Amino acid sequence: MVSSATAPASEGTQHFLQRIQLFSGLSTEECTEVVKRMKRREFPPNQVIVREGAPGSSMFFITAGQVEVRKKDSSTGIDFLLSEMGPGQNFGEMSLLTGKPRTATVLTIQPTSCAVLEQKDFQELLIQYPKIGVALTTILAERLAKASQQVGIEFINLSKLQVDSRVVTLVPAAMMNQHKIIPVAFINNRLTLAMVNPNNLMALDDVRRIIKGVMVEPVAISEEDFKKFMGSTYNELMKKEQAAAEAANSAASPASPTLSGVGLSGVTVSTAVTAAAAAPAAAAPTGMLDILQSDLIRDLQLEDVAAAPGSETKQDLMTASEDAPIIRLANSILGLAIKRGASDIHIEPMETEVVVRYRQDGLLQVIQTLPKKAQMGLISRLKIIAKLDISEKRLPQDGRISVNMEGKPIDFRVSTIPGKWGEKVCMRILDKSNTTLGLELLISHQETLKMVREFINQPYGIIYVTGPTGSGKTTTLYSALSEINDPTINISTAEDPIEYDLAGITQVQMNKDIGLDFARALRAFLRQDPDVILVGETRDKETAHISVEAALTGHLVFTTLHTNSASGAFTRLHEMGVEPFLISSSTIGVLAQRLTRRLCKHCKEPYEADDATIEYMGIKRTKPGEKVTLYKKKGCDACNGSGFKGRIGIYEVLKMNQELRNLVSRGATTEEISAAALRAGMLDLKAYAAILLREGHTSVEEVLQVVSVAE
Ligand SMILES: [Zn+2]
Repeated sequence: MVSSATAPASEGTQHFLQRIQLFSGLSTEECTEVVKRMKRREFPPNQVIVREGAPGSSMFFITAGQVEVRKKDSSTGIDFLLSEMGPGQNFGEMSLLTGKPRTATVLTIQPTSCAVLEQKDFQELLIQYPKIGVALTTILAERLAKASQQVGIEFINLSKLQVDSRVVTLVPAAMMNQHKIIPVAFINNRLTLAMVNPNNLMALDDVRRIIKGVMVEPVAISEEDFKKFMGSTYNELMKKEQAAAEAANSAASPASPTLSGVGLSGVTVSTAVTAAAAAPAAAAPTGMLDILQSDLIRDLQLEDVAAAPGSETKQDLMTASEDAPIIRLANSILGLAIKRGASDIHIEPMETEVVVRYRQDGLLQVIQTLPKKAQMGLISRLKIIAKLDISEKRLPQDGRISVNMEGKPIDFRVSTIPGKWGEKVCMRILDKSNTTLGLELLISHQETLKMVREFINQPYGIIYVTGPTGSGKTTTLYSALSEINDPTINISTAEDPIEYDLAGITQVQMNKDIGLDFARALRAFLRQDPDVILVGETRDKETAHISVEAALTGHLVFTTLHTNSASGAFTRLHEMGVEPFLISSSTIGVLAQRLTRRLCKHCKEPYEADDATIEYMGIKRTKPGEKVTLYKKKGCDACNGSGFKGRIGIYEVLKMNQELRNLVSRGATTEEISAAALRAGMLDLKAYAAILLREGHTSVEEVLQVVSVAE
């Protein structure tokens, strides 16, 4: 009786505190006593319980509800969702133990109840229950072992080191004295920083702030060494540096900036220090990834940790060092894509390597090639933050990553497919802050802009936007919607996916799994007293029909069609089974469009076009023999060396008139409709592109990629 009562009892009546390492040595009765010292606290949804960097000395045990844990990545500034936690889980133990600021932000998703243990109560508990002290020692020892394994800080003797004076000037003397740090070496974009206290995170942050884009590697030095250096060696080095700077200035070569003159912008510094004379401007971000790559090769043991994701619990993720190379690599890939304004990220495992590509201004480009051994960890990491099943590698999956960058919410739509050499991850960046919207940004030709504005201010009718995938149809439609958006009208959109958030508009995400398609959403909108409706895409007869009916019953409808030319829209609708007379009476106009890269205005280069180009591109001279200046790409810092910055639309806008209505009603061919529209003054894509070229917005090469000019 006695033995049966002691042995299995712990299983049935296990106290929730016993599952927490800190209290695992206590009996159930003792745990009950501990709980008495805790305070109950209730939090409403969306409340921050602890904030990253804020002081705090208490630990929280969730008894009901749900919270999310977010952490800012210091190198990219992105705020990541690390994990979600629920009843039985705890957070804040490091602040309880050390009194140091919070290492992550925790905020509630649902109403949440916590039991809170304050530091003074904890200290009393330690005296009352020595077993907690033993557990504490074990936890701290484990943490320490883990930390030194990750960081591996080495101790150096400054007197044996030859310090380059140019490297020392990277950090201002005041900061060196404040934090007791000395920059001692700079190789391959990696700054070795000698520190009296290598755990001084504030010092590391300060250094990263003034020297952006470099990796900082701390090494330890003694206080004595530091004093000795600053007392004598430093002054000698400064004198040497000053002399060098003066010599460089008197040589008057503006092309080779001295180190002190480059504003410590990190990128320029690195090229100066490594004496790579004319490094291309594009080297900056790629260089950053290069460092990460060398990290990966060096820190193989860490990669193993990330490659065995089964062992990575939510708690591990939260406390994982932000210096872990895999996490940093994943963060940098995301952060760099946002900073460069890429629209998609492709991570493609090949036989012997992993290729990272960004789609930027419509074109894919290789950003970096990573060693094959980075594959497992990187893909697992991305799947974890996209909340996908990491163990499932044979089936395609879809997920989402939500981050904040400089206060701006950015979502990544993530998809994986099983490729021959491993899972390929593709991420579409959904920047919901719609900073790029605006018809005047897309449509540079004033008459065309005026005509489009006329279209969207009609009380009813339908406006079609056509073009291939990636031609910017959605951007044009959103820009139009945000122009007419007004509290006095009801705007509803059916989208797949929702790419921008528009305030004051009802946006509905399509979901084919539950049968919510465009046609069904459209029918529902019509019962909700709409003024303006946007249908993401007209691709079936039913959607085409309802849109046309909606337009004819007093609503303004915007939608897209998959045709190449404006005139082709009518044939396409006819093929879908819409009656020609309904098409002709409901249509206001059709916009065919393409997107092309906009030349960087800081570096574009003028040249005099030859006759063949002028004729081929259909550029019109104002008088015979006139010289025609066109522009071509070059590349500078402002455009990451690509020669392009942003994109611009090429439009073909067909405005309905009586002749066109008659032609459409009797089912005329695309060619007949096109000819009539051109007679009425329509600019086709080629003619519009010629205007863009003359105005210097883009280059001949770019136009040729998106517009057929051969006919
Ligand atoms: Zn440029």
